[in-house]
Amino acid sequence: MPSILAASDPLAILHEVFGYSAFRGHQAAVVERVCQGGDALVLMPTGGGKSLCYQVPAIARHRAGQGVTLVVSPLIALMHDQVGALDEAGVPAAFLNSTLEGDEARRIERELLAGRLVLLYAAPERILTPRFLAMLDSLHERGLLSAVAIDEAHCVSQWGHDFREEYLGLSVLHERYAGVPRIALTATADAHTRADIVERLALEDAQLFVASFDRPNIRYTIVEKDEPRKQLLRFLREEHEGDAGIVYCQSRKKVEETAAWLAGEGLDALPYHAGLDAGVRRRHQDRFLRDEGVVMVATIAFGMGIDKPDVRFVAHLDLPKNIEGYYQETGRAGRDGLPADAWMAYGLVDVVNQRRMIDEGEAADDFKRLQRAKLDALLALAEAHDCRRVRLLAYFDEASESCGNCDNCLHPPAVWDGTEAARKALSCIYRFHQHDGFGFGAGHLIDVLRGQRTEKVLQRGHEGLSTFGIGADTPEQAWRGVLRQLIALGHVRTEGEYNVLALTESARAVLRGEVPVLLRVPADPPPRRGRSSRSAPSSRSGAPKPPPVPLDEGGVQRFEALKTWRAEVAREHNLPAYIVFHDATLAEMAREAPDSLDALASISGVGAKKLDAYGREILRVLQTV
Ligand code: ADP
Ligand code: ZN
Repeated sequence: MPSILAASDPLAILHEVFGYSAFRGHQAAVVERVCQGGDALVLMPTGGGKSLCYQVPAIARHRAGQGVTLVVSPLIALMHDQVGALDEAGVPAAFLNSTLEGDEARRIERELLAGRLVLLYAAPERILTPRFLAMLDSLHERGLLSAVAIDEAHCVSQWGHDFREEYLGLSVLHERYAGVPRIALTATADAHTRADIVERLALEDAQLFVASFDRPNIRYTIVEKDEPRKQLLRFLREEHEGDAGIVYCQSRKKVEETAAWLAGEGLDALPYHAGLDAGVRRRHQDRFLRDEGVVMVATIAFGMGIDKPDVRFVAHLDLPKNIEGYYQETGRAGRDGLPADAWMAYGLVDVVNQRRMIDEGEAADDFKRLQRAKLDALLALAEAHDCRRVRLLAYFDEASESCGNCDNCLHPPAVWDGTEAARKALSCIYRFHQHDGFGFGAGHLIDVLRGQRTEKVLQRGHEGLSTFGIGADTPEQAWRGVLRQLIALGHVRTEGEYNVLALTESARAVLRGEVPVLLRVPADPPPRRGRSSRSAPSSRSGAPKPPPVPLDEGGVQRFEALKTWRAEVAREHNLPAYIVFHDATLAEMAREAPDSLDALASISGVGAKKLDAYGREILRVLQTV
């Protein structure tokens, strides 16, 4: 390593290696803890800066002669880019996984055993092999096993959504290498998962660091489903032309259909789900990471470990399973701290489907009860008339004030009192059961309430019910809202293959008029404020995107020139462009137009190695514009 990289003070390392001026939030405290050899459990939202929490101590400890930090990471596919980013910053790092040729793997093993690596990434199944453990033993005996970082630590919990059996085996590290500090990191916030991590990884002595889970740059919007595809397209065209983002769907089939449809509409959209061939998945993921403006249409199989910083939106066409899922998935937007959108279309069908999936699942009764409670919390968020963020954070036990950056804060919804309507719907459901001995679905119910003489109505003799036509003055969509809320609130449940409606115990109180039912007035999407400057209208996807900060004309030209230069470097190094430099770093260079290496060094994101490797070229690019 060059001699300039010698200091082992964490702040000096942050400056030199990463080019950043200060630690954020809990980073400094976590780094200090690990540098001193203590264990830590770090809960930070996505984009909070978890990587530096173990990378800086790894560098400091290596410089102090303590050897290598082992990083446990669940996703082989992403190690390449993580190591690439460290390499760009001049930090000796490597990964060991099945994608390596034998020669290359042996070369890395030699580097490792010689104590030259600062960080080694590997997946748990690899780590638990006798060969790997033997290498760790050898390092440990010589005092060269510095620390262990366990990334995505929530994978050890069955409670969460990403459980991985192999993570359970990681307790062996603690048993075998007692005294080697461990740091576990996750963006999953709930108390149950946290308790599982502590117990299963034996982290009782770990100091706990919990960051705020607010992601202020993410704007939350939940729209009522009307024509979801059209709504999605409008959202993409009007607000995110040319932006990279993720569209989540529940089923593989819907993923493929939606991706094909968006592609037909001229968007650069690709499908991703676990049923696709591994090669296709890798290709699509690479395009998403490396090209600008790709829209990934995916099941939740896609996303964990994706550290692309400039994902500008996450859209949901189907309801996630619970708030944890919603938070994780939407959290993939805006890691770079710039404005990003979490957008979801939600409707009656979603509520019915999610409830049914739980009911028909194989799980034990108490687990189902828990799943239902979690779904209810999500439905309450979707039905909310007040600040979404306040509710979201409250779910993670964090108090907050109205945010001013969610749909309900920006455009407080008009509500109407649906109590009477709700009573009408409930009594109609009651009449069905009385009249026919069984129930009917939502469509038929609405027909009867609105007094439609359909074939089915006549066939069943439902035009003779006392509830026939009592809701003729209420439009169909409003009825859907009433029903959705009744189901969401648990006053009505759906049964069987045809989603037949039935009353629950709590329906009585509503029937008696004791429970007010407030409903949002369905409205056309209001015009969005403050976006026009960001998403300057461009004629097609892939058109140049505006820089993340306002620049004058010369600045824009410099920014474009720097991006062209960066694209070449990224291609040469086989890395995503953002690993060479973030957009924000290029934008700052374009704005400041530094004319010396010293001036360039003061820009955030320019560390010593990058300055050395690229500084002269960057100055040349800036001068030629
Ligand atoms: P996480 O793993 O928690 O999702 P990352 O470690 O990927 O977050 O960090 C998110 C982004 O923030 C990265 O682009 C990283 O370079 C940047 N970052 C992290 N810490 C700092 C800091 N102290 N100063 C400036 N940028 C930072
Ligand atoms: Zn709000």
